[in-house]
Amino acid sequence: MSDYADRLASLAARGLRRRLRVVESPQGPRVRLGGRDVVSLCSNNYLGLAAHPHVVEAVQNAVAEWGWGSGASRLVSGSMTPHARLERRLAAFKVTEAALVLPTGYHANLAAVRAAAGEGDVVLLDRLNHASIIDAATTCGATVRVFPHRNYDRLRRLLDRCGRYRRRLIVSDTVFSMDGDVADLEALVELKRRYDAALCIDEAHATGVFGDRGRGIAEMSGVEQDVDVVVGTLSKALGGIGGFVCGSHAFIDYVINTARSFIYTTALPPAACAAAEAALDIVEAEPDRRRRLLALADQVRASCREHGYDISGSTTQIVPLLVGDSDVAVRLSEALLDRGFFVPAIRPPTVPRGTARLRVSLCADHDVADLDAFFAAIDDLGRRRGLRVMGTQ
Ligand code: PMP
Repeated sequence: MSDYADRLASLAARGLRRRLRVVESPQGPRVRLGGRDVVSLCSNNYLGLAAHPHVVEAVQNAVAEWGWGSGASRLVSGSMTPHARLERRLAAFKVTEAALVLPTGYHANLAAVRAAAGEGDVVLLDRLNHASIIDAATTCGATVRVFPHRNYDRLRRLLDRCGRYRRRLIVSDTVFSMDGDVADLEALVELKRRYDAALCIDEAHATGVFGDRGRGIAEMSGVEQDVDVVVGTLSKALGGIGGFVCGSHAFIDYVINTARSFIYTTALPPAACAAAEAALDIVEAEPDRRRRLLALADQVRASCREHGYDISGSTTQIVPLLVGDSDVAVRLSEALLDRGFFVPAIRPPTVPRGTARLRVSLCADHDVADLDAFFAAIDDLGRRRGLRVMGTQ
């Protein structure tokens, strides 16, 4: 246990050392950091629900009614009325037969993928899928095949060679968390049909944001009935904590009976379920909130393109500003913080080598003037300090 200082120094030398920053206020478009008020451009609190009064009140009422802890895992005695109610609500919201709530989206992906594939099967993954999907796929006993990001022609060629496996499972994020681009679900459904495969999608960054009713990219693409398993999280647009899996009654029952990340962990506090229900109330009653977020995102992306910034393939509320070098990304992030903008550098291994970036994520409550000031600061730091995002002269 003696070489950790050296290992940390080695990470620091490569611009890969990470540190926790402490936010000293509730989450929102502006937060308090180091005693200063800064614009937060790095939260997944897309709809501004993390500290919304309706959600906070629901939590307070639920704590008064149900207490705080759930006391045990779901299969022992931790399954309570708020869990069951939220699961009915999520199944109706996602238009599936059944839903299951887990402590986080990470647990949900582990449970879903490991229940959907095992020995004798093959799992086909987009290279940029979330870490929890990769962790699930690489430990489920199935053969894993990875296709280049959104390259469905390569996926088709992989599937051509997968006829001998008992089951073929395709897994994809819908909105990719570090690039802000979107899977082509129509293409995936077409392939799933042609090759008799199952399709599992992770709508973590899309739930509450996309689709007329806020149900996600599957709704927006008109393919909800063609997807076998949907994973989501309560921790992003819904502003709380928890994850969920949606699918057929039989599949959800199988997850309950077999998924280690469901069985061997304590149930979510009942108040977290109440918070998610309150957040869903808002998603259903206030479509303007997601429209405002997406209009803001359109504006930001247009402005990035005008400046010539490389924002990868972003078409969503997640807008990466590619920097390339990890060290420059860190220094740029620090300089921006000095000027009142909180946007951490995202570095390998979270993103591929040479693609360090500032990941800007927007909130429906952001002020346009704050965003304009942020881009002016980026330009200025490029000109005066040589801290450039890719595409700037
Ligand atoms: N899937 C994706 C695509 C994510 O980005 C995340 C969170 N970063 C998760 C799943 C995990 O969700 P949670 O934070 O609720 O564990």
